[in-house]
Amino acid sequence: MPELPEVETMVRDLGAVRGARIETARVLRPDVLKNVTPRTLVRRLTGATVRAVSRRAKNAVLHLDDRYLVIQPGMTGSFSIAPRQRHRRPDEEGEAYIVLRLSLADGRALAYRDVRRLGRMYLLPPAGYAAFSDRIGPEPLDPSLTAEAFAEAVRSSRQAIKKVLMDQRRLAGVGNIYANEALFAAGLDPSAPADRLDVEDYRRLLAAVRRILQAAIDAEGTTLRDYRTGSGQPGNFQFDLLVYGREGQPCRVCGTRLAATHAIDARVTVFCHRCQR
Ligand SMILES: [Zn+2]
Repeated sequence: MPELPEVETMVRDLGAVRGARIETARVLRPDVLKNVTPRTLVRRLTGATVRAVSRRAKNAVLHLDDRYLVIQPGMTGSFSIAPRQRHRRPDEEGEAYIVLRLSLADGRALAYRDVRRLGRMYLLPPAGYAAFSDRIGPEPLDPSLTAEAFAEAVRSSRQAIKKVLMDQRRLAGVGNIYANEALFAAGLDPSAPADRLDVEDYRRLLAAVRRILQAAIDAEGTTLRDYRTGSGQPGNFQFDLLVYGREGQPCRVCGTRLAATHAIDARVTVFCHRCQR
């Protein structure tokens, strides 16, 4: 699933619709709508202006006049902004997978597609959005997040640090790929219980998480299969991964063969026995 850098890239591209008024809305695949009927969604979107676009954890958020449209792109969710075309055939490029299509008053159209429809979409009033956001942990790239506060948020658990790092209630936006990379960069054993690490470990880990997420944003995300930026391009961070997807290959730091396990959280964890003690 797209993690923080991929959703951040989508949101930056979506910034192009800031200030645009939605003329008409069409829901073509209602099964990703979570708390709203297609009819209500269309009614709320029609005539609304996109005031701002932001990201919270792995969610893209469109701030409308008095509602928040929250979209969590699943494995295959993607946005595109294009000039409106009136005579498009339904079988044209990706058209069949459109979930939501917004025709903007300025002549453009914003489409959200989701081939496998593992994504989710919510329409929330301000109080609902505040409650939604409150259930998620701090944003790792928020400069006001200190190593002490980060340690506080995660170290109360006895679970493996990798699992805790990916727990959205404790820290926002980190999934399997970036957890693997950050733990390698910080030299931490992914299976170490979170409560066994000290503040110095957490300082190193937070610095690694930030550096890697920022580098991945700069590279417009990691494309392993489906993820595309708002302009339809793959990201580039897959070329900079040091452990994820490299099991059996030599560690880039010490040359030891990288090991893989599914024992921590049933997902693949790739690590270096020597560098991550
Ligand atoms: Zn190594």
